[in-house]
Amino acid sequence: MTQNQENLLIAVASGKGGTGKTTFATNLAWTLSGDSDRVIYMDCDVEEPNGHLFLNPEWSAAREVKVGIPIVDQDRCIHCGKCGRICRFNAIADLGTRVMTFHDLCHSCGGCMLVCPVQAITEQWNPIGMIRRGHSGALSVIQGELNIGHPTSPPVIREVKAEASGTGIRIIDCPPGTSCPVMESVKGSDFVLLVTESTPFGLFDLRMMVEMLGLLKLKLGVAINRKGLGDRSVYQFCEQRQIPVLMELEDDRKIAEAYSRGELAVVSFPHLKERFRKLMQAVLKRIRT
Ligand code: SF4
Ligand code: SF4
Repeated sequence: MTQNQENLLIAVASGKGGTGKTTFATNLAWTLSGDSDRVIYMDCDVEEPNGHLFLNPEWSAAREVKVGIPIVDQDRCIHCGKCGRICRFNAIADLGTRVMTFHDLCHSCGGCMLVCPVQAITEQWNPIGMIRRGHSGALSVIQGELNIGHPTSPPVIREVKAEASGTGIRIIDCPPGTSCPVMESVKGSDFVLLVTESTPFGLFDLRMMVEMLGLLKLKLGVAINRKGLGDRSVYQFCEQRQIPVLMELEDDRKIAEAYSRGELAVVSFPHLKERFRKLMQAVLKRIRT
């Protein structure tokens, strides 16, 4: 399949870690990179990026991600309270005699600086993470890393996505869960592939993901990892909600062993490439309908 002209953003997500999200994202990206001109794997799981363990990229560039946080000139402040009222995150508060800032809560929106009538607030740029760029064979790899202990990952995720802008097929390996970082990762996607296991826990997490993605009105499909485990509850849920199950990967000891050695399944078992190609064809069909 040749997809040279495609410009697609496909997010691979799951309601919790350990369900095989990175397995699907890396194997899909690697397979497509053998068929298409410009394929990019983007690791937006910035608190614990691990796609590189399987792709072994050669890094060619790295840069810091910085965010602006407010610094208050207490002598200039006239205690109007406007900064505290505009902040949706309770990251700044006028106590009457002093303005307090809580940098861990700050989302660097700049609102407090804009409303301050006496320009008592300035921005200080603090590093919060890194972006790395490299190659693994024909596949471009972009990885975001959040500094240990920093609470807000969306700015790093935004930078990963900005670094990968332009044409090509871009595969996003999302953070697990249903919180803000996931929303940031899937935002603007043409399609979201939800990876799950057909177990009661898998169903619980899948249901939450589907509710969240419903709010964003994104096209989605499901991939089932470790087929053969658990029960039929995920299949029944998908049928009820008319969500297509686009691929199943068996609960195969050999695949698990290759994973534990840090090997891509499609490299250890090349016949699997055809399955990932078919997955991509099914995704394209959904995007176009
Ligand atoms: S920059 Fe935005 S989030 Fe941070 S303290 Fe100011 S208003 Fe609040
Ligand atoms: S908006 Fe400016 S002047 Fe008003 S309380 Fe905040 S820092 Fe002080």
